[in-house]
Amino acid sequence: MRKALRQQSDRPKSILLIDVDGISRCISQALVESTRKYRLIITHSFSDGLLSQKQNKCDVILLACNQLKKSLPGIIEKFHSFQPEVPIISIIDKDSPVERERLLRAKATDYISLSNFSEDTLNRSIRYALQNAEQRKLIQELRDTDSLTGLGNRQFFYRELETKLEQNKKMGTKLAVISMDINNFRAMNSRYGQHHGDIVVEELARRLSLIESEKTSTARLGNDEFSIIVDISAYEDTGVVTKEIIQKIMNSIMQPVVYGRSEVQIKCSIGASFYPEHGDDAEQLVHRAVVARQESKKAFETRYTFFSNELESRDNLYSELAPQIAFALRSNQFVLHYQPQINLRNGQIEGAEALIRWQHPEKGLLYPDSFIPICEQMGLIVPIGYWIIHQACMDINRLKSSGIDLKHIGVNLSFRQFGDDNLVPTIKRILEKTKADTSVLELELTESALHDDQNHVISCLQSLSETGLSFSLDDFGTGYSSFSLLQKLPIDTIKIDRSFITNVTTCADDAEIVRAIINLAHNMGKSVIAEGVEEQHQLDFLVEQECDFVQGYFFSKPVSFDLFQHTLLKCAAAV
Ligand code: C2E
Ligand code: CA
Ligand code: CA
Repeated sequence: MRKALRQQSDRPKSILLIDVDGISRCISQALVESTRKYRLIITHSFSDGLLSQKQNKCDVILLACNQLKKSLPGIIEKFHSFQPEVPIISIIDKDSPVERERLLRAKATDYISLSNFSEDTLNRSIRYALQNAEQRKLIQELRDTDSLTGLGNRQFFYRELETKLEQNKKMGTKLAVISMDINNFRAMNSRYGQHHGDIVVEELARRLSLIESEKTSTARLGNDEFSIIVDISAYEDTGVVTKEIIQKIMNSIMQPVVYGRSEVQIKCSIGASFYPEHGDDAEQLVHRAVVARQESKKAFETRYTFFSNELESRDNLYSELAPQIAFALRSNQFVLHYQPQINLRNGQIEGAEALIRWQHPEKGLLYPDSFIPICEQMGLIVPIGYWIIHQACMDINRLKSSGIDLKHIGVNLSFRQFGDDNLVPTIKRILEKTKADTSVLELELTESALHDDQNHVISCLQSLSETGLSFSLDDFGTGYSSFSLLQKLPIDTIKIDRSFITNVTTCADDAEIVRAIINLAHNMGKSVIAEGVEEQHQLDFLVEQECDFVQGYFFSKPVSFDLFQHTLLKCAAAV
């Protein structure tokens, strides 16, 4: 932004003289003589003046129109409506209080009376008007600039977007709004300090401004959040143009940020929405670009997503549920259901996975896929995560006091919970408070938890394992699983994802993968749970491969605690 302003102030100034009835011939002569440094454009009617100003955008407008005094306010307003920053000097025949008042109200910058006209007066007035405009521009620029990065700020961005949208509506052109932020920025900031975060943000801003072109306007909307408006002509393909720009952004963030002696590889989530397809007002377009960005966030890599119909319905559900979640937690609307895990060596239920449900007062029982992502986005997964662990510990105690001895109860831990610096002490406090048998509690984590700060996650796991609880790696095979990573983690159990089990008897590749996972896990001294077992033939295959545990609809869907307890008591009585 600053550079653009400097470029503008360096070029020679231009003046538009609108000389309606020829009385200003002498002025134009004086102007040509005395102001060689200015570029002068003369028109002889308002309509020509208007047209010329739209095309040339002169720096000062001189209005010489003594015959049309009464229409002057309307004329000035017309120019101000599309270029409010361009000063207008009116040339009047006689100075009078009425005349002055009229011009003041019409927001003319200055006036020159023909009765005391001189080259000097003219020059002074033009100089004054230009300085005034320059100062106003500077003040506006300072108000619009983000002090950390020098990019436009939120205020600049919204004004720019609204202006562009208005232009687009008139001209039939299009635009895209790109929204991006840095993955795990909050955790990075709290772990390494705000100064470190600022350096990363500044560097990202610098790289974004290198990509800036005539087509784009880039702004920093908040902490690590940037937005870019992309101008798209009527005949261009919005998706193609936006993709090209996003590709440039992605290339520019591939290089690590050097900070002292260390290097940080930043990853960003990017989303985009398009005008007119996804909305026609600024708020809506920004919101939808953010929704698309949040979709990208699920990938844990630098990724981009365009807004779509599918995201729209998810967004509607989000808008409906998001404001209700905190209240739902306070008023005990969440419940844990349990899905049994069967030991294939003896056919007994030896464990279970705790799965959260939301007993919604109007919508009925909601499943986690519809609300956990919302909790994650809102940061509410942290308190809800603690509620889940607390509830599971209470349920472990209830089972124990009814004489049921389960070997393990799995509780899902969202990767976002590792962003909470109090994770370890809070879990330890819950265990102390509930006095639950820690050896029964097994925290299930997915590989996504290990994407950003492996060392932090490993140290959390090590510290937690001192309490006696254990860990399993969930949805194994769906991420970037590596056995070398497994060796680094204090993980006891691997859960093979349902997607491999579904076709395990019909797809040779899946069968091979499942066989390999079981063998390697056993060689590493870890046990294996196969998820999503629905059919006898799947079970037979897993028995043959000496899988340790199974979990799936073939045995039971997740059920309420009461039903789960009842089933276990019945099984115990039958033995
Ligand atoms: P997950 O951890 O992989 O949980 C297993 C999901 O598979 C459960 O869905 C379960 O009902 C379903 N399932 C189990 N057996 C079968 C089967 O034989 N066939 C089919 N088609 N599905 C089966 P649910 O309860 O809807 O949970 C979905 C996901 O939500 C879970 O996937 C987990 O990632 C998340 N989730 C559930 N509870 C919690 C929780 O307490 N905390 C967190 N952070 N996430 C949770
Ligand atoms: Ca799980
Ligand atoms: Ca799973």
